[in-house]
Amino acid sequence: MDKIILTGDRPTGRLHVGHYVGSLRRRVELQNSGEYKKTFIMIADAQALTDNIENPEKVRQNIIEVALDYMSCGLDPAKATIFIQSQISELCELTFYYMDLVTVARLQRNPTVKSEIQMRNFEASIPVGFFTYPISQASDITAFKATTVPVGGDQLPMIEQTREIVHKFNTVYAPVLVEPKALLPENEACQRLPGIDGKAKMSKSLGNCIYLSDSADDVRTKIMSMYTDPEHLLVSDPGHLEGNTVFTYLDAFCRQEHFERYLPDYADLDELKAHYTRGGLGDVKVKKFLNNVMQETLEPIRNRRKELEKDIPAVYDILKKGSDEAREVAAQTLAEVKSAMRINYFEDAELIRMQSEKYEGQ
Ligand code: ATP
Ligand code: MG
Repeated sequence: MDKIILTGDRPTGRLHVGHYVGSLRRRVELQNSGEYKKTFIMIADAQALTDNIENPEKVRQNIIEVALDYMSCGLDPAKATIFIQSQISELCELTFYYMDLVTVARLQRNPTVKSEIQMRNFEASIPVGFFTYPISQASDITAFKATTVPVGGDQLPMIEQTREIVHKFNTVYAPVLVEPKALLPENEACQRLPGIDGKAKMSKSLGNCIYLSDSADDVRTKIMSMYTDPEHLLVSDPGHLEGNTVFTYLDAFCRQEHFERYLPDYADLDELKAHYTRGGLGDVKVKKFLNNVMQETLEPIRNRRKELEKDIPAVYDILKKGSDEAREVAAQTLAEVKSAMRINYFEDAELIRMQSEKYEGQ
């Protein structure tokens, strides 16, 4: 079977370093690996509207921001189809049919949706569209027959839900849909990078982000204000790594060669952690190291973005072309789905013949 990638992001803000380690970095590697027949990258504007109905303009404004972030990270429109969800109306049709295959109780059990409902104070009145977005996500994935979905840890329940829908559909109707697999980042820090406040996952909706497009100064200020270990008051105090955001970020970003370049007194991250835990290593020194590591990662991204910003119409052209391409693929899947469901009446000569026979000679 051909290996196909689909993944995406909600245009609710610029992309942040959580997206980068959670999914973007991996996507670019996969796109360049030559192992995948197609890579589809979706800007999920329709999904973003499900919880931003008070502010649709935010979604509209952020489409270009997400597209710029994508390409500055190295997603290449020559290798990946970048498209806008709302432009593929076939996805809505698929969602409508998949809804018959899922119970309300099943949706209520989804732990990610549960915590997102809480986070958005939706307990009293959840928009139906928001409640059912895991079904719409199943449409996004299956429309492209994706085998592989590179995502952060919060997306696992969505992939599971998709697999169930695929299984049910293929059992009830005919085996036309493909069961996808999530591809999670290698370590825990990357699966769910916390915000700089150390409280929750870094999320556009929570304002605790380091954005890929932040200036070098902003990144430095944010890192220097980062949550560490509240009990580590004096340099000589033993420090704790658990819940220490600076070390979580080092787990996500730091590589061996960073030590040679910026902190040659230590062989590797284990040695740095051991010193911190023992006592005698100050937060400022660790933060300065993290700043060097992150600036090295972010600078080329920032520079490429500046170049791309010079020709915005060209970026919209890429999105238009990608959306046209994506639509063709989704239309093909939808036709197969409708045919499997036998709701293709006018193409079914046998049905018309049988119905005629029923009335013959009456
Ligand atoms: P929103 O607050 O609007 O939901 P978000 O910041 O959660 O925005 P999404 O567009 O929902 O971003 O997520 C896009 C992708 O990035 C998903 O694959 C998700 O798992 C991943 N992702 C988002 N935040 C993080 C994070 N903090 N750490 C790792 N991966 C993340
Ligand atoms: Mg999210």
